[in-house]
Amino acid sequence: MRIVATDLTKRYGTGENQVIALHKANLEIQARDFISIVGPSGSGKSTLLHLISGLDYPTEGVVEYDGQNIHQGKDAVLSAFRRRRIGFIFQKFHLIPVLTARENIIMPLLLDHRQVDEGYFKQITQFLGLEHRLTHLPSELSGGQQQRVAIARALIAKPDVIFADEPTGNLDSQSGREVMDLLASVHREFGKTIVVITHDDRIAQMAERKFSIVDGILSEVSRR
Ligand code: ADP
Ligand code: ADP
Repeated sequence: MRIVATDLTKRYGTGENQVIALHKANLEIQARDFISIVGPSGSGKSTLLHLISGLDYPTEGVVEYDGQNIHQGKDAVLSAFRRRRIGFIFQKFHLIPVLTARENIIMPLLLDHRQVDEGYFKQITQFLGLEHRLTHLPSELSGGQQQRVAIARALIAKPDVIFADEPTGNLDSQSGREVMDLLASVHREFGKTIVVITHDDRIAQMAERKFSIVDGILSEVSRR
């Protein structure tokens, strides 16, 4: 799946309080890309991620998935599209504290009234080293383990693309690198397109294509 963002602009507020969070960003993401977007706090990373993942609407510009403008239809169409095609990973994990690891992982399927593919569930939880943690509550897991549960939850609905918003931001540097290594292996083994935003250049270097964003201006800085 190919994602193309053209001249994406986001302004918040009006008049003298107006903030241009993102200015005419252009981005083309190919199937199986592993991309990082690095920039300091307040540079527009979350804004860009929210627009290209359909969590928010641009002020100007277009986001297309395989040529389809995702912001054109009704809200309900956009949220169904997000549930089926996109996996999300967040800085603070966003696991539900009263549910076990397994229950958290399968939640996206329950919300979409879909059956659990038990073979695939086993494959991803083994791959992520979670098979002995599935009955634990999030509070009984380390930060790195909680983020692995969140990665499994992002994979369970077999999305085309995974967006990760500061996935290592709440972890010490070693757990952070482990989570990035895992995302790199998820990219390799499962052929997923992955987009990571981070303020940490060492984390950003681990991706195959790196973009930087400064004061709402996006540019591609390296590719390997
Ligand atoms: P980052 O993710 O890089 O920290 P953001 O995309 O969150 O940056 O923010 C970019 C700019 O837009 C910042 O100046 C921020 O204060 C502003 N901003 C973000 N969200 C809002 C909002 N909902 N209302 C007003 N300003 C916002
Ligand atoms: P933080 O960096 O504080 O952990 P997150 O990256 O977790 O914040 O969340 C970024 C934003 O995305 C938040 O405003 C949150 O409400 C929103 N969000 C989180 N999960 C979802 C979701 N599944 N669908 C829609 N919006 C979400």
